[in-house]
Amino acid sequence: MRLMMATLHSETAHEASRQEALRRLDLLDSSPSEALDRITRMAAQLFALPIAAVSLTDSDRQWFKSRVGVERDSIARMKAPCAMVTASADVLIIPDLHQDACFRDSPLADSGVRFYAGAPLTTHDGFCLGAMCVLGTAPRAFTPAETAALQDLAAMVMAQIELQHALGRVDPVSGLPNRMQFIDDFDDLDMHFSLGEPGLAALVSLAKPEQISNALRVMGSTYLDEMVGEAARMLRSVVGAERKVYHVGATQFIFLAPRGMEQAVFCALLERWLGERNRAVTSRFVTTASVGVAPFVVGQTVCHDVLRNGHSAAQDAVESLSRVCMYSAEHDAAYRRRFTLINEFGRALERTDQLRLVFQPKLLMASGACIGAEALLRWNHPTLGEVSPGEFIPVIEHTSMARATTAWVLEAAMRQLAEWRAAGIELQMAVNVSATNLLEPDFCARLAKALARHGLQPSSLSLEVTESAIMENPMVAEATLDALAHAGVHLAVDDFGTGYSSLSYLQRLPVTVVKIDQSFMRGIEHDDRKRTLVATMIGLSHDLGYRVVAEGVETPAAAAVLEGQGCDEAQGYLFARPLSPAAFSAWFEQRRQALRSGDGPLANLALTI
Ligand code: C2E
Ligand code: MG
Ligand code: MG
Repeated sequence: MRLMMATLHSETAHEASRQEALRRLDLLDSSPSEALDRITRMAAQLFALPIAAVSLTDSDRQWFKSRVGVERDSIARMKAPCAMVTASADVLIIPDLHQDACFRDSPLADSGVRFYAGAPLTTHDGFCLGAMCVLGTAPRAFTPAETAALQDLAAMVMAQIELQHALGRVDPVSGLPNRMQFIDDFDDLDMHFSLGEPGLAALVSLAKPEQISNALRVMGSTYLDEMVGEAARMLRSVVGAERKVYHVGATQFIFLAPRGMEQAVFCALLERWLGERNRAVTSRFVTTASVGVAPFVVGQTVCHDVLRNGHSAAQDAVESLSRVCMYSAEHDAAYRRRFTLINEFGRALERTDQLRLVFQPKLLMASGACIGAEALLRWNHPTLGEVSPGEFIPVIEHTSMARATTAWVLEAAMRQLAEWRAAGIELQMAVNVSATNLLEPDFCARLAKALARHGLQPSSLSLEVTESAIMENPMVAEATLDALAHAGVHLAVDDFGTGYSSLSYLQRLPVTVVKIDQSFMRGIEHDDRKRTLVATMIGLSHDLGYRVVAEGVETPAAAAVLEGQGCDEAQGYLFARPLSPAAFSAWFEQRRQALRSGDGPLANLALTI
């Protein structure tokens, strides 16, 4: 009894796997295929029989993928001879259905069919999907040669089916199963793993995108094909025959860790493999291979996430120079945030209700008079809320949006400056520009036109550039800065002291103002070292003919130190935070009044503290 139960159980399991194999081939209820119809027509002709079919055994029906001489596209599985072929995975010949104990009373016999011959349609991994069958309306004998011919036709049908399935699932360059196949196989992972079991996937990336495009440009596509082929061979031999390596992107592969392997062990294996590969392959000088390891839980993690997390970790590996990286949800979240910001900022630039400028006063240290304002961009996103420029500017300034952003800021700042001038507020407006702006060939010409359009003198504008922005492409940046200075626009080096800080290099540039970074102001009143550093920077800058601005001045004590050291101008929360245009006008008026009434700079501080 127990044996019978066990047999029954394994039969049920086998039938489930068989149906799964059928489902995976995506054949049921699919449209007719001429390649299969040709074989079916040939079968009917070869045996001079009126009916032939490629009949697939679904859970409760025989469905005809291809048919000749039958109207219906399916019949019930019960009492269908093809179902018996599927069950036995063997050829079945019924010379006369009327004489056959099993099929004498079958619907097929009732419909006038007398002869049946069916050969199993078996997949390469041994699942019987149905039968290639021929039927006649008269009893008939079937010779061994005819049986062999029918089996050949069944094999041709299966070759055709598996070929069609493999098309679009195998990468032609590497010969490895592709991303589509990985997605399918990952969905079927519960056939080899248990549900809830943890696993690891390694995504191998052979090169960075820019390296690929460089290689394509210099060496052509055959070079890449060779690199991919070489990697595919190496990976196949490392991973072994029992596990598949998938080719999921132009130069990316994925495979799973052996069941139960520890994270650390798997990563160490990958490190070692990468090390060996890097010593062996010729492409090692022009490409940086990296591996991202993505953990997953069978039945819970979706395949799309495994691929994405693998990519994310591989990218982390490139950035951290560590070759192999585990997926980090934190890094991924930061990356996704950056991606969201880029997307959303593009939209913000096209709208009128998200971006605005605020203006922070710049004061003369000696008199306390406000002589300028720095325009600072603000972004209020409908769902993300206020996003700080400290976060979004570094993200977008290396995209193509840098040009449109600076153009937007310059336009809004000039409009405001002209408006203030008309209202009797004379200022120099400072605008921050990004490295990419200095590479725009028409930057200076457009700026000069815009100044003229707003009726502004070029000297009423000061552009703030960081040293690192200049150093990204010094030759072009220098040319743009020269053109700007020639046009009469003032130039300032922002965040001085945080970059290269080479005053001798600065001398080559037409810069007139040095803005000492706010990190030097933090606690300057108690920190001897900082005081000395700032004093030196101010002294040297003055010797070389620059005006010096201190930014981030927050306390009267810091202001006093800077005043003592001869700093020319200051900017900071002590005097005013960045203000809306209306608040700025009010603040400016109040300060002008205070100065007129004879209060010195220190008295003015009381206005804002
Ligand atoms: P930055 O050009 O060095 O601007 C000074 C930053 O320091 C501003 O931050 C300002 O609000 C802040 N700040 C001013 N005084 C104080 C102070 O006393 N204490 C402290 N803790 N901070 C002070 P914000 O507005 O967040 O801007 C950050 C950076 O974003 C700017 O640094 C600039 O590099 C960039 N940025 C802002 N607006 C633009 C823009 O329109 N274009 C470009 N390319 N960059 C911009
Ligand atoms: Mg600035
Ligand atoms: Mg700064």
